Amino acid sequence: MDGEKVELERASSSEGDKHPLVWSSPQGGQKIDIGKQIFCNRSLNMRNIVAVGFDMDYTLAQYKPETFESLAYEGTVQKLVNDLGYPTELLSWTFDWTYMVRGLVLDKKRGNILKMDRHKYVKVAYHGFRELSKEEKTATYGSTLIRDAFDEPEYALIDTLFSLAEAYLFAQLVDLKDSSPEKITADYSHIYKDVRAAVDLCHRDGTLKKMVAKDPGRYINEDPAIIPMLKMLRDSGRHTFLVTNSLWDYTNVVMNFLCGEKTEDDCGTLNFDWLQYFDVVITGSAKPGFFNDVNRANLFQVDTETGMLLNTDNGTPMPQVDTSLRLPLNNQDNRLQVFQGGNVGHLHKLLSIESSSQVLYVGDHIYGDILRSKKVLGWRTMLVVPELEKEVEILCTLRDARKQLQQLRRDRDEIEDQIHHIKWSLRFDEMDNGNRDGLDMKLDKLKAQQEDVRLSHQQAQREWHQMFHKVWGQLMKTGYQNSRFAHQVERFACLYTSQVTNLSLYSPDKYYRPSEDFMPHEFDILSI
Ligand code: IMP
Ligand code: MG
Repeated sequence: MDGEKVELERASSSEGDKHPLVWSSPQGGQKIDIGKQIFCNRSLNMRNIVAVGFDMDYTLAQYKPETFESLAYEGTVQKLVNDLGYPTELLSWTFDWTYMVRGLVLDKKRGNILKMDRHKYVKVAYHGFRELSKEEKTATYGSTLIRDAFDEPEYALIDTLFSLAEAYLFAQLVDLKDSSPEKITADYSHIYKDVRAAVDLCHRDGTLKKMVAKDPGRYINEDPAIIPMLKMLRDSGRHTFLVTNSLWDYTNVVMNFLCGEKTEDDCGTLNFDWLQYFDVVITGSAKPGFFNDVNRANLFQVDTETGMLLNTDNGTPMPQVDTSLRLPLNNQDNRLQVFQGGNVGHLHKLLSIESSSQVLYVGDHIYGDILRSKKVLGWRTMLVVPELEKEVEILCTLRDARKQLQQLRRDRDEIEDQIHHIKWSLRFDEMDNGNRDGLDMKLDKLKAQQEDVRLSHQQAQREWHQMFHKVWGQLMKTGYQNSRFAHQVERFACLYTSQVTNLSLYSPDKYYRPSEDFMPHEFDILSI
């Protein structure tokens, strides 16, 4: 066995799992699996980054949708039935967590679920679970004088993995209302509002968090590569920080699970060891408002033992008027590092950040984590897209199918051009009857071919997309165009990758460079 093979085997052996791959480890430095690569939209030189920040939920903590989203689904159904008077038959409904995908848009008023391209053209549309015909789609979304923005408040964007359950439930309720209008009198928008309120309550009243706290391993994937990644960044001289919308008690549960030593007898006891990997932790951050430094939210210090909040003067502890109220004893241990609320200005001050472009923030939510932080603030951003790993792997296996699809498309276009040409000649060119008959015959033949090629192409394209997802197709594409989701990733994420810990596969001084841009004329000339 040659040296390279031995290295690869070692990396994938159980030994490799115990000591996860880090760029500087002996197993590091080998070719990175396509599903774990970091892709670059905008140049980013890590040498200029002085602080790397992380979102927690669905970024550091990857929830298992089959258990976590099912829990959200069940909690929501119970609230709809028990508190909002929905029919009890909902309690027997089940949730297919694979059905909905990120990037979809709910049309609240019409009860439709849409997938659109980067120009906001609706390409796939369902009413509940019934696919709309091309004619229905065009009549509803294609023939307006003013282009619809497809944004809130009429539409809801499914842009976090937290929203998959609510989108599925909405579709189920639309179907129920259509089949039995007497059972649900509320209109579609109202149904959506109820579902949203019930989901929101599940997140706030402890329905979800208490269950996760009881058994985090049931709901969150373990990731042994998190600590090595954080260590690597800190060893390279970077500050690290956490900014999460979760509150301290829950953050502590999740981070203990992700970073704690797993022993047989730990019985779920929580400690604060994980704090050693972060310079600052901000909980209850209320992103995206947090990224706006004119937002005047107060910054509180969190007493990590009791969860009590203490006022601060922009992060500096304040003397208390009541002397019985002392600053928490553990200040020294935790170096005043856990806070709640505040805004990005506080964070910059705590970390002595001079320019916002020195910060890289890694998150999973385009609106909550990425859009404002990059667009308004100028932080550099990395978006975590777990779906990407499968997407790029399928893409690799479908290379040949892609070529065939492109050939069919070219054939279709060529036949169409020939038809136009003959039609033009028949109409405007002078010719004798023999020639005219000849052209007529050729035209009929081409028209038959055109229909064949059109149908074959349509079928091949449908099959192509179904390889990615049976209903919604390739996440990053709609037809041949980038999907709306892909467009947002391209615009707002400097980097994107499938898992946060892929960062540890690259040097902390890596210069990420984007691939070359191509205009359509370059594609043709360079035969890409
Ligand atoms: P982050 O991603 O670490 O910033 O945390 C996201 C937090 O938002 C988690 O605590 C979620 O439970 C919470 N969350 C997600 N969706 C909702 C919602 O619809 N209403 C209220 N909280 C939510
Ligand atoms: Mg998140």
